[in-house]
Amino acid sequence: MEEKLTQLRQEINYHLYRYHTLDDPIISDAEYDQMMKQLRELEVQYPDLVTVDSPTQRVGAEPLESFEKVTHPLSMTSLANAFDDEEVRHWLGRVERLLPDGMTVEDLEFVVEPKIDGLAVALTYQDGILVRGATRGNGVVGENVTANVRTIKNIPLRIPVSADAPPPPTRLEVRGEIYMPIAEFNRFNQQQLDMGEKIFANPRNAAAGSLRQLDSKITANRPLALFGYAIGYVEGAEIPTQLAALEYLRQLGFPINPDITHTKDFAAVLDFIHHWMEGRDSLRYDADGAVIKLNDIKLQQLLGVAGNSPRWAIAYKFQAREATTKLLEIKCNVGRTGQVTPYANLEAVNIGGVTVRQATLHNFADLVKKDIRAGDTVIVKRAGDVIPQVVKPILELRPPDSQPYQPPTVCPDCHEPLTHFEDEVALVCINTACPAQLVRQIEYFVSRSAMNIDGFGIKIGEQLAKAGLLKNVADIYALTREQLLKVEGFGDKKADKLLAAIENSKSQPLEKVLTALGIHDVGSAIATLITHEFSSVEALQKATHDDLEKVEGIGPHIADSIVAWFSHLPNQQLIEKLRQAGLTLAVVGLTTAKNKESLPLAKLIFVITGTLPTWSREQAKAFIEQHGGKVTETVSKKTNYLLAGEKAGSKLSKAQSLGIPIIDESKLQEIVAGKLGN
Ligand SMILES: [Zn+2]
Repeated sequence: MEEKLTQLRQEINYHLYRYHTLDDPIISDAEYDQMMKQLRELEVQYPDLVTVDSPTQRVGAEPLESFEKVTHPLSMTSLANAFDDEEVRHWLGRVERLLPDGMTVEDLEFVVEPKIDGLAVALTYQDGILVRGATRGNGVVGENVTANVRTIKNIPLRIPVSADAPPPPTRLEVRGEIYMPIAEFNRFNQQQLDMGEKIFANPRNAAAGSLRQLDSKITANRPLALFGYAIGYVEGAEIPTQLAALEYLRQLGFPINPDITHTKDFAAVLDFIHHWMEGRDSLRYDADGAVIKLNDIKLQQLLGVAGNSPRWAIAYKFQAREATTKLLEIKCNVGRTGQVTPYANLEAVNIGGVTVRQATLHNFADLVKKDIRAGDTVIVKRAGDVIPQVVKPILELRPPDSQPYQPPTVCPDCHEPLTHFEDEVALVCINTACPAQLVRQIEYFVSRSAMNIDGFGIKIGEQLAKAGLLKNVADIYALTREQLLKVEGFGDKKADKLLAAIENSKSQPLEKVLTALGIHDVGSAIATLITHEFSSVEALQKATHDDLEKVEGIGPHIADSIVAWFSHLPNQQLIEKLRQAGLTLAVVGLTTAKNKESLPLAKLIFVITGTLPTWSREQAKAFIEQHGGKVTETVSKKTNYLLAGEKAGSKLSKAQSLGIPIIDESKLQEIVAGKLGN
């Protein structure tokens, strides 16, 4: 029985290794569960035969009163830091002076490793069995966290893990970093937030907090992982280089960071580091720097330690991405569609060489859950090109008189009540006359996908709004030549051109007008859907929530949003103004569902390919649909016409092989005009 149990454990440990370390499982989860179940049942039957390396021991043990202190047989030194290339070159200069006679920098080999932002541990294996896991502590004395370490899935409980590996050394101390992968960290933190539990500022804190739990059952539920990076000592094996050490650990079944590189060229060392520094957001773990080590272990021993740090290695620290500072006040910003979002004004703080004074607070739900308050000392993160964000408050530093933050009930700019759409985190100001939204609304209203007013840029929008000429988007149609001429930068020509473009936009079809209104969640695709069912703004205004939801593609949110928009009095007034201005507020050319069949392209299916001479794909599609036709993506027997432009590819050959008529833009227009039969 003992033999059978040993074999079963070994198999399970091997499959765990395939899954967690190699990321390459060879059995299904169900098969794995079945094996675990069998092992558990046997261990219940034969409790005397349970061993410390059994995978059943990974669930955690009885909670401890406190951690036992552990003196490291070989102290865990910390690395000296460098903060730029210059300091690394200085380090190399110091190394050079200590090299034995006849040896030069040219003879050196370097191993470069990303510096994982986690918690350093020493894992001791006696005859292949994990007997102790200890934190670094102060380098000399650490804490015994063996029970916790056993719960981490990619740490082998017995080595070697696979059959074709070298035999286990009699005694081995593996050094590594316990960390929480970024994706797991984000998931875990969100889960904590949703449950109203404490969140962690970064993956390092989460890893440390999870590993140093007196109850190892808690650790067992945290997504921790290990990267082995060095051998503390080994009895029963000869390891000449750092690279050989990593390879040996890998063979025994330890996870080794695949990004580690090796070179003789010092310039390449710096290249690697810069590469990681720039790409640190694409790594699946948090790296706060890179470590350069001399590869030759004899040389390492020769150079020895200075103070607390080895002379043969150096850590190149990346710029910090987090800082703590005081949150002065919480403010709100109103976007184009009226979405109100919170942000923080901060006491100026330098993060990685950039002064940060403002940071996003994402949304009100997050803000309330995290209980961030004005006056709090907060952790601010600035990563890559992303807007700085407030991560969390430091509760210990909260002033005694602080008050919880209350999300606004009215718009900070126009003071109209805010709307909270169900299932959405955002608060929205639905008042079109809201000044904060005005400039952004104008910008959107005149844009190509909406009213397409040529030559009407953001700057003109700002100028006209500032001059008080525009109080809402309908005022665009009341602009006069005299008014424009008074605005800076406007001459006769420019004013006439703009007025002509404005006049022109009145013929934009209904779906463009609907898009231009900027109703929350109603973009051009939804606007087009709407016009298929409701042939005028009037009809849409009368539509109930239920009427709207019946339209395919329109869900409850959008229906809510449309009803709310039209029920708002200033919006109704806006529609009236647009009507008086002469905009197209009804479908022209009768394209509603009922009379679609009488249209020239009714029941015809088109596929578009290549570059058309004057239309964009979108315009061609709109033209076809307006005249009752349908546009699909792929050529099939059902396709009636292929509308082809220049550089047509596989769709053209497919259509040719199926004998489908191929037409160009002008032919299409002729078909619509009735000059050609179907
Ligand atoms: Zn407002």
